[in-house]
Amino acid sequence: MSNQTGQSLERVKQAINAASLESGRAPGSTNLIAVSKTFDANAIRPALDAGHRIFGENRVQEAVGKWQELRREYLGIELHLIGPLQSNKAKEAVQTFDVIHTIDREKIAKALKSEMEKQGRNLPCFVQINTGEEPQKAGVSPREADTFISYCTRETGLSVAGLMCIPPVEDAPGPHFALLQKIAERNNLDQLSMGMSADYETAIRFGATYVRVGSGVFGARNYT
Ligand SMILES: *Cc1c(COP(=O)(O)O)cnc(C)c1O
Repeated sequence: MSNQTGQSLERVKQAINAASLESGRAPGSTNLIAVSKTFDANAIRPALDAGHRIFGENRVQEAVGKWQELRREYLGIELHLIGPLQSNKAKEAVQTFDVIHTIDREKIAKALKSEMEKQGRNLPCFVQINTGEEPQKAGVSPREADTFISYCTRETGLSVAGLMCIPPVEDAPGPHFALLQKIAERNNLDQLSMGMSADYETAIRFGATYVRVGSGVFGARNYT
């Protein structure tokens, strides 16, 4: 079991390096977020023991307990929130996470900024873009992206590092990654959080600086 996670992690890292080289990008220019949602501390430890430190979770409540425990055992953990955030969870989110990928409305931007000020933390943030304009999906529509990004940086003073997207499952991801890259470029943002287990190599070709890989590292998730 534990060996399995270490080996998968190594395989994904090699694939990331290969895709970086192929697309003429410097090795190390794409960071791997190992997405550990639904996996408990015991399942995550092998990745930490292998030296990995960047992890992602999609639920605040789920992350609090297990990462408090793991942070006592390992130094240098960087935890990314990659799932939707309710403003009543802003306090716990700012206490628990180091980077927030899912800013998509004014209310949440304001709530996070105010919590960061209270806690004396300034977390890098990503604005989530709903590149496929799917009604059920979180994120700002591409048409509203420039206005919202400027609201976040100018009005609330959040540190917007970049953009994040989750392409529609039924689409080829390339055009969505290209759109995210274009919106980031015209807003002078360097960081792109895009690509999951199925498409992270494609995302790297389109300039991903963070890929979010879950099942490719930890195996299939069991939601029951
Ligand atoms: C679960 C999740 C991932 C990882 O998905 P895999 O297909 O398991 O790699 C990436 N990004 C987000 C936002 C997720 O919720």
